[in-house]
Amino acid sequence: MATMRWWGWGHDDVSFSHEDKPALAPFIRRHLGLDVTRVSSRAVAFEDLRIPEPSLSPGLEAALEEALGGSRPSTDPLDRVVHARGKSLRDLVRHRRGELGRLPDVVVRPKNEDEVAAIMRATLDADAVLIPFGGGTSISGSLEAMAEEPRTVVSLDVSPLSRVLAVDEASRLARIQAGAFGPDLERQLNAQGWTLGHFPDSFTHSTLGGWIATRSSGMQSDRYGDICDLTRAVRVVTPSGLLVTRPVPSTSTGPSVREMVLGSEGRLGVITEATLHVRRVPERRMILGYLFPTWADGLAAMRDIAASEAAASVTRVSDANETAFSFATRKTPAILDRVKSRALTTYLRRRHDFDLEAMCLSFIGYEGSTSHVAAQRKLVGRIVGRHGGLCIGSSPGELYDQKKFDTPYIRDFLLDRGALADVSETSAPWSLLSGVYDAVIASAHGAFDELGVRGYIMCHLSHSYHAGACLYFTFAFVPSPQGDGLEQYDVVKSAIQQAFIDSGATLSHHHAVGTEHARWLEDDISAPGVAMLDALFTGVDPGANLNPGKIV
Ligand SMILES: Cc1cc2nc3c(=O)[nH]c(=O)nc-3n(C[C@H](O)[C@H](O)[C@H](O)COP(=O)(O)OP(=O)(O)OC[C@H]3O[C@@H](n4cnc5c(N)ncnc54)[C@H](O)[C@@H]3O)c2cc1C
Repeated sequence: MATMRWWGWGHDDVSFSHEDKPALAPFIRRHLGLDVTRVSSRAVAFEDLRIPEPSLSPGLEAALEEALGGSRPSTDPLDRVVHARGKSLRDLVRHRRGELGRLPDVVVRPKNEDEVAAIMRATLDADAVLIPFGGGTSISGSLEAMAEEPRTVVSLDVSPLSRVLAVDEASRLARIQAGAFGPDLERQLNAQGWTLGHFPDSFTHSTLGGWIATRSSGMQSDRYGDICDLTRAVRVVTPSGLLVTRPVPSTSTGPSVREMVLGSEGRLGVITEATLHVRRVPERRMILGYLFPTWADGLAAMRDIAASEAAASVTRVSDANETAFSFATRKTPAILDRVKSRALTTYLRRRHDFDLEAMCLSFIGYEGSTSHVAAQRKLVGRIVGRHGGLCIGSSPGELYDQKKFDTPYIRDFLLDRGALADVSETSAPWSLLSGVYDAVIASAHGAFDELGVRGYIMCHLSHSYHAGACLYFTFAFVPSPQGDGLEQYDVVKSAIQQAFIDSGATLSHHHAVGTEHARWLEDDISAPGVAMLDALFTGVDPGANLNPGKIV
């Protein structure tokens, strides 16, 4: 897997454009006052970056080379810049400005678990800092070394460990190395008729180890579960040796060590391998589009689907703002699509319960045998109907399914035009969701007003559970030229995060803590909870050599 652009998302041959989406430029002008036809801001040239010399003693360099079986560790400037941070908005803005922060001094790529263990020993012996690096898609500041870190910083890139090692067909468990990227991992499993079913939006550029270390969640989590449900066992190189848990379905061995590794963000060691639930590649897979008259109707329908016997793979509903944005990003429609869309609009206008400004777009996915899919559709259809919803067929869902991995490019497109766009996500019990939504929307608008900027915020519900669901907010604004863009971003982002906490939701459903969300941790899990985590990290890593400063 080639590394991503050092200043943004993805590869150079893919980018987002407004030119094939006729409604997008007017939409953005109307809501943000931004002319997207003008590129106003670009990343500084790589040649103009000020990259400090690595601080690496000859002793540690030699020890790392020995650990790598004679391969030289990398001090290449581009390698160090790419491994310095993840892809949060703050990461992108500072990289684009040429503010590189504390770069790793050296990047190592072990080829097997023994080499990981040898690197761990060499790093601890030299009292250096070790930061595991998967795909580098962290969105919560989990990868950057602390600004004033005086010790040598080693970035351990796990990506060469990329194989599916074995599938236990009877138990439906696969042993997979932690550096496997999403597409490669699925390709290897699919070749044997299996799937992991974990598809985060960052799927193309993130790894199994990163998913486990951040408690990731994928689009089809309603059927397959989050990564914490899928992960049955782990192997982790820790300062005191190799931690191995057994792939048993359940166990009574005290507090779960496996759970301690989930979400550990590199603070307990390097995950080298995991054993995960896999399922047969489904015979049939479809995502249908639905429209609901209002956000309240959509929320109630998702809650009732979760409470029913229906087992959808995806349940997602956008609020009216996100629905309007989705329609604005549609490509120039073919004549037949235009006729269909006009017919639908006329139909909706005639239905008194549908106000086109308030309606909400939803996607519901089904997987399994043909008869299972048909039965699920019928069950869900009845629930949707009870809440005034309407099925609009498979084309919108198919389009969403094809394009979902391209949406991360929109952030770079907006940054090039001087606008800041980011996301914040949370989860809450069903009884609180609507209050959380209202509080977040009000707080974001309060922050836009305080800054005197025009902003847009939109939301969708996804990842439904027995007891609640995830709310995923996306916001954008053009910062005022009078102040620093990132300081203004902090005002909006903090207002949203604080609204999560104040309304009973969690600081993050699947983006992890890192440094970005650490200040809300105590409010979320209480002071004794933070003390427990602190004791765990200090006990395992007394020298604070493993990704220090993250989570607590
Ligand atoms: C545009 C965009 C969309 C995203 N969409 C989603 C989404 O839909 N769902 C979701 O869950 N997340 C999403 N994320 C967040 C991010 O992709 C996840 O946190 C992902 O799990 C990180 O995986 P990675 O391999 O890139 O890990 P990295 O970013 O490289 O690392 C993340 C953390 O894990 C640690 N780590 C990585 N590998 C290991 C290992 N082998 N052993 C120990 N520690 C390790 C790192 O030290 C770091 O602390 C998105 C991010 C972006 C930028």
